[in-house]
Amino acid sequence: MDPFVYDALPNRVVFGAGTRTQLAAELERLGCRRALVLATPQQEAQARDIAALAPDRIAGIHTGARMHTPVDVTEAALSVVRELNADATVAIGGGSTTGLGKAIALRTDLPQICLPTTYAGSEMTPILGETAGGVKTTQRTLKVLPEVVIYDVDLTLTLPASLSATSGLNAIAHAVEALYAKDRNPIISLMAEEGIRALSGALPRIMDDPADGEARAAALYGAWLCGLCLGSVGMALHHKLCHTLGGTFDLPHAETHAVVLPHAAAYTAPAAPEAMGRIARALGAQDAAQGLFDLSGRLGVKQALRDLGMPQDGIERAADLAVRNPYWNPRPIERGAVRDLIARAWAGDRPLAS
Ligand code: NAD
Repeated sequence: MDPFVYDALPNRVVFGAGTRTQLAAELERLGCRRALVLATPQQEAQARDIAALAPDRIAGIHTGARMHTPVDVTEAALSVVRELNADATVAIGGGSTTGLGKAIALRTDLPQICLPTTYAGSEMTPILGETAGGVKTTQRTLKVLPEVVIYDVDLTLTLPASLSATSGLNAIAHAVEALYAKDRNPIISLMAEEGIRALSGALPRIMDDPADGEARAAALYGAWLCGLCLGSVGMALHHKLCHTLGGTFDLPHAETHAVVLPHAAAYTAPAAPEAMGRIARALGAQDAAQGLFDLSGRLGVKQALRDLGMPQDGIERAADLAVRNPYWNPRPIERGAVRDLIARAWAGDRPLAS
């Protein structure tokens, strides 16, 4: 066995159906009496329900969370934190709401409790991406890692089937890249394989019946493991490419991940045979890239970047940007092959066979 380093992330997880009822006890454990509940405007009703579970320990609700954590949104939330003299945040929602809680924690050190309602996985990472003046910067610091995550399967029942599919594929992408990460280790690889297995099995069942509680539980469990992968080891070509494409062409986050993943896996496959074997095994497929493409087809998500709004003349520009700042990938980044990868993803073709 090769030598490795494993850094455990210090947070507490409460998992199950109905676990949101433990919010008051978790706030008490942290010694917090004036928590601020955070949400997006769309999830205000859920935020009110959560606040009602711990009336003695909640000081207020702020529903200003937005995608990509804009700094002005954080400033507005910070003034509410000061006004209410809040001593914790409770983020109910997806990655956008979790991001706001993290941005507040970065500036105030307030403890965070997260109640995730998507499969994005941000609650398990010490990573914060923020936007200012249209530019996104990402940092990694334990200051932003949430102290407590309450996974309540019931809260995911309202996540529409199409969002469940793209959010779930976004989570699978974290685990796929963890299996061939430069700093991979056997513990995280176990979680990655199990995360892919749980999510890829559950998502088709959720498409058939979004209220299937067992499938929802398996998907949320898988999303937890995949989020832990993202928080623990470095990502590679797939995540860099999605970051570039999303930022340059203003493409939707999870949908872009869903389209690019099979192609990024096909590109990397020749240089990471062991990882690909584990991904294929977790998917119950013969081949990792083809299995990922078949899964996204089965889930009915868009499979072409052109259908997400990327212009055809963006292919060359994206290829230039992808090779501009070289970064590590098991298979080195070669412009011609990356251009072909982007072109296939743009058109919605099957990934290249390895
Ligand atoms: P999101 O949080 O933006 O949610 C998408 C929409 O779905 C929102 O309108 C939200 O209110 C709604 N929604 C969420 N859960 C719902 C539910 N159960 N029922 C009904 N509606 C619901 O989307 P996301 O994909 O979870 O997060 C994306 C953001 O998270 C991006 O900004 C991404 O960069 C960030 N992210 C960060 C990390 C990290 O580690 N820092 C990891 C993953 C994602």
